[in-house]
Amino acid sequence: MVLKLFNTLTRKKQPFQPADGKRVRMYVCGPTVYNYIHIGNARTFLTFDVLKRYLRYKGHEVLHVQNITDVGHLTEDDLAEDKLIRKAKEENVSPLQIAGHYTEAYFRDIERLRIERAAVNPKATEHIDGMVRAIEELIRRGHAYEVNGSVYFDVGSYPEYGKLSRLPQEQLLAGARVEAREEKRAPMDFALWKRAEAGHAMRWPSPWGEGYPGWHIECSVMSAQYLGVPFDLHGGGKDLIFPHHENEIAQAEGQFGKEFARFWLHSEFLLVNGEKMSKSKGNFFTAKEVMDRFTPEATRFFLISAHYRTELNLTDEGLAAARNTVERLQEFIVRLRSVKGTKQGSEMMKLIASAEKGFAEEMDDDLNISAALSHVFDFMREANALIQAGEVSEEDASAVLDFLKRLDSVLCVMRFESEQLPAELQALIDEREASRKRKDFSAADQLREELRKRGIILDDTPQGPRWKRG
Ligand code: AMP
Ligand code: ZN
Repeated sequence: MVLKLFNTLTRKKQPFQPADGKRVRMYVCGPTVYNYIHIGNARTFLTFDVLKRYLRYKGHEVLHVQNITDVGHLTEDDLAEDKLIRKAKEENVSPLQIAGHYTEAYFRDIERLRIERAAVNPKATEHIDGMVRAIEELIRRGHAYEVNGSVYFDVGSYPEYGKLSRLPQEQLLAGARVEAREEKRAPMDFALWKRAEAGHAMRWPSPWGEGYPGWHIECSVMSAQYLGVPFDLHGGGKDLIFPHHENEIAQAEGQFGKEFARFWLHSEFLLVNGEKMSKSKGNFFTAKEVMDRFTPEATRFFLISAHYRTELNLTDEGLAAARNTVERLQEFIVRLRSVKGTKQGSEMMKLIASAEKGFAEEMDDDLNISAALSHVFDFMREANALIQAGEVSEEDASAVLDFLKRLDSVLCVMRFESEQLPAELQALIDEREASRKRKDFSAADQLREELRKRGIILDDTPQGPRWKRG
């Protein structure tokens, strides 16, 4: 089966193959490092983590590049101040310190969410030379012009402008408002390079005097540098379609005279009380605080279990339900490990084959993960019934564990390493089991209570006692 992905550029689900038939070259817009990532940012980063892992599940290699925006992302108010500079002023430190601190925090957070790091994480401040060269090339090709030390992209020189966002003229104009400077030739033109006013904290020399790059040019330059043009897939949250990605396309296609990226994928927003969660609005929960309350696996599961192109509302109930599901999966793993039967010829192999087929068919349909997961949960119910009926051999159980590992190479919410209890606690469990067998139930109950106080919950099953941390 071929994976189909919804391409924002064509507004269609299209069969996806990497251009070279093997390795997928993918660029995802990374965080602007002036604050901790919030749980909405995490949703977008997870969308692309699941996509990357699913591409591998299907046998592709993936070269993933994800930038760190540490300069040039302006606030959306009239002052249009750099987000990092504003935060640095508030905290009375340098913009570089702000970037360093929040970049580290970002890596810590994604690691806990089991998001695999990109192969390359280019920082904008380390690629200023490449941006200057790209801007020079745009001027040379007649797509950009300089005024008073700033350089603007001439939107009129690129007739395909608007092809990604497909916005009507008025909205394209409204989006250019942030850039409203008298000196632009046309209102829709946007800045590639900005002159640094006196006292501006971040500045680099350039052929047009000291200044700093615009946010859009960072991504088109860094993606082209590490992936080549055209590359296979460019992604980000839906808010980046316009102006960020529209402008990236104009710049890159203007600079190289050919297609920039083949597929554009955008994930929907995470909402809180029906509104987009955002750092600038302040209505956000950090990824860290949600993980601390509900565990990283539950947080991850909650965020990936809804289709990436549907809005998702953050609620405690949703997170608690996700935690519950992750626990059920974990209990299933423990139960499988304790299967000791030898009976041959069970239904299990057929169940595995049909669940795996169902999972892959749904994922192939533009990562329809909620439907893919329903195959997994149906499978779990049927497999549990077979175990209950004593119909499952140790060999079957180990085939199920292999299947779960394959699924988890995409989902990443399960744990397969079995935890060894400290000997002293294991001894209490053994002693209780011995009391139970002697029918000394009051001793058995006392031991169970003792274990509970130490955070170990026991569950008696036909296969013997099982423990979990409570
Ligand atoms: P930023 O750090 O603001 O540049 O955003 C990093 C990524 O998170 C971008 O791809 C955004 O589109 C995405 N993003 C921001 N807010 C949300 C949200 N509420 N839900 C989903 N993705 C978001
Ligand atoms: Zn970007």
